[in-house]
Amino acid sequence: DTALVLFRRDLRLADHPALDAACAGHERILPLYLHARDEEAPWQPGGASSWWLHHALEALQQRLSAQGATLHIAGGDSLARLRALIKASGARAVYWTRRYEPAAIARDTALKAALRADGIAVHSLPGNLWCEPWQLATAEGLPYRVFTPFWRKLRAQLPAEQPLPEAHARQWLQLSGSLPLDALELLPRIPWAGGLAASWKPGEAGAQELLEVFVDDALADYANGRDLPARHGTSRLSPHLHFGEITPRQILHALQARTQRMDARRRPDLEPYLRELGWREFAHHLLYHFPQTPTENFNPRFDSFRWADDNPAILRRWQLGCTGIPLVDAGMRELWHTGWMHNRVRMIAASFLTKNLRLHWQHGARWFWDTLVDADLANNTLGWQWVAGCGADAAPYFRVFNPHTQAAKFDPEAAYLKRWLPELAKLPTKLLHEPWRDPDALTNCGYPAPIVDLSATREAALRQWQALPPR
Ligand code: FAD
Repeated sequence: DTALVLFRRDLRLADHPALDAACAGHERILPLYLHARDEEAPWQPGGASSWWLHHALEALQQRLSAQGATLHIAGGDSLARLRALIKASGARAVYWTRRYEPAAIARDTALKAALRADGIAVHSLPGNLWCEPWQLATAEGLPYRVFTPFWRKLRAQLPAEQPLPEAHARQWLQLSGSLPLDALELLPRIPWAGGLAASWKPGEAGAQELLEVFVDDALADYANGRDLPARHGTSRLSPHLHFGEITPRQILHALQARTQRMDARRRPDLEPYLRELGWREFAHHLLYHFPQTPTENFNPRFDSFRWADDNPAILRRWQLGCTGIPLVDAGMRELWHTGWMHNRVRMIAASFLTKNLRLHWQHGARWFWDTLVDADLANNTLGWQWVAGCGADAAPYFRVFNPHTQAAKFDPEAAYLKRWLPELAKLPTKLLHEPWRDPDALTNCGYPAPIVDLSATREAALRQWQALPPR
């Protein structure tokens, strides 16, 4: 008999429980991608994500062809498409990997009910997280709101099972009528994606390569190196994780296997890195239990916070990296060019937008959504609410990042600043860290003067925060 396997944010063949179960239980498998942008509203993939998706589907198609299979691509209403394909293939079952965004949950719940009413077996399986969001709860049976106890609980029960090997169907089914990938129009019409293409290799193989480089290289010094934006001190696996080209279980086992073979005295400490993957799990836990948080403050105390009036010209200068604050601009330009920004710089650019410019965190979240190759509703929402101070377990509001001090501390040679602000590359490092000492030297290079005074705007933000009603 035949089963359909629907690929979504699980664009891989290895460690894929849904595909594995389908191959074990059915004679023939139709691998399927349904393109239904409208069903993701209001968080349809942005420009950079769409670019990634195109190439990730291409890579998946290549892996399937190595097994003699073809990814069937279709567009339009998911339920109508599935019904048509079920009829054409004679399938009795549909498999997919679970998703946790509110729009996806609503859509999947409706699909499940409709298909089951048609007499079709629907199997939704885990695979993209270490732990399903509803499997962890506080002693009172409530969702976690604080990271440390969440992580303590999760850390004690990380998956011990080995990741699954690449799945093989007994027979891959091919149907006529598949769309060519280009018909999905995921690539930009104006060719702005050259920097993305130069920076990334979407797909399962690209993910495994990055993992190997990371384990060989940056892992040993991750606890320090992760804060230095000029270095490749982190794994850069975030877009691969978002699109499900690699699983956290594969990462965990690869790290454990590699480090166990090492001399105990030289064995790197895995904890700081595992903890970051723990934040990803926490973000999914929060999004699942508090699905309103992509557009609402997690902490309602901030609902009366007085944001500055919307100012498109100021927002635009932040987006384009022309604020006159070097570390913020370097980060925003890295984002525009590569579709990614170093985590520490994300925090600083976000703090500058929400505290010094006092623009609503949702303006920033939207821009990141469109420009990040790793744009992820759970992680992006957590990141923005954390920086803005209104999130679960957020940074205390009064800790406003000072971009100059941060640059001096984490980019001591100004290598990151000089890479992304080439117009300033000839200036002395000290001046890049303390630009107020000779502002003319910067403007003479064609670099803009600061759009705001950092300390005056910091004071103004703190006054607004102090005016909030008590907790
Ligand atoms: P590594 O340091 O190698 O970490 C490994 C993995 O752990 C990452 O790939 C990621 O999946 C996860 N992770 C690490 N840090 C965090 C974190 N703080 N929160 C949640 N998961 C984390 N991450 C996204 O994946 N998508 C986003 O849309 C996103 N938006 C963000 C917005 C803001 C304002 C901030 C401050 C952070 C955001 N992050 C987001 C989190 C973090 O910046 C990125 O996950 C990280 O920079 C990715 O680089 P990496 O893969 O080299 O990370």
